[in-house]
Amino acid sequence: MVKIFSVITSLMLLLFPLTGCMGKSFFSQDDKGVTRTESDGKNSPSSAASKKKAEHREEQVQEVFNPESIPVLVNQYNILPENYQPEDLVYPSIPYISNKKAEKQKMRKEAAAAIEKLFAAAEEQGIGLAGVSAYRSYTAQKALFNYYVNQDGIKKAKMYSAEPGTSEHETGLAIDVTGGNGKCPAEDCFAGTVEAKWLANHADEYGFIIRYPKGKESITGYKYEPWHLRYVGRAVAKVITKHGITLEEYYDAVPVNN
Ligand SMILES: [Zn+2]
Repeated sequence: MVKIFSVITSLMLLLFPLTGCMGKSFFSQDDKGVTRTESDGKNSPSSAASKKKAEHREEQVQEVFNPESIPVLVNQYNILPENYQPEDLVYPSIPYISNKKAEKQKMRKEAAAAIEKLFAAAEEQGIGLAGVSAYRSYTAQKALFNYYVNQDGIKKAKMYSAEPGTSEHETGLAIDVTGGNGKCPAEDCFAGTVEAKWLANHADEYGFIIRYPKGKESITGYKYEPWHLRYVGRAVAKVITKHGITLEEYYDAVPVNN
């Protein structure tokens, strides 16, 4: 019990950096004509139309069957198995805005090696970067989401926080970054900076994509996040970047067997 309490307490302390990314995100599932299913009963959609929409979304939600896959698609429709935990998490040797080692600095081995190369290349070209937040466990995401539910109710919480299993950070393949000066960590003011521009132009060379691009909000369900890098491997990253598409669109174009 004490352990659980201390986990929750540390989570609270981590809230600022954790919410940096997800807290400012929004789900635009309504743009897709889909209403999320409410689970607390009192906020259940009342009209026949919204009920139908909710059922429609439920039909579309599927559990990711191979979460270990590098280009795995994770979003509000493709959710990770409960308590999924990547087995090869390591600490990438990159600077983080916080010097204190924390679980959220971890990434899967291959992604960690790639982010190290990306940071080194950026530095060579005079671009300073710093990591903000990478891995987030299912448990951490669950605690974070529940915290928001307690604070704002489930309906509101679902508008800005990812439900456990739906956050890319749980794959260990995503990382939020910022400029070397540590300003604008996972915040809108990062957009348009030289670092953001460099990332948009070069991330694919190291196997990363800007996962939530501008103008694709209705497809990804997230607002523009120039700081959220997702490792998908070089081949996939190149295709996605070259065609200016999202991971969702990539899988629309090819059968989903990630
Ligand atoms: Zn992020």
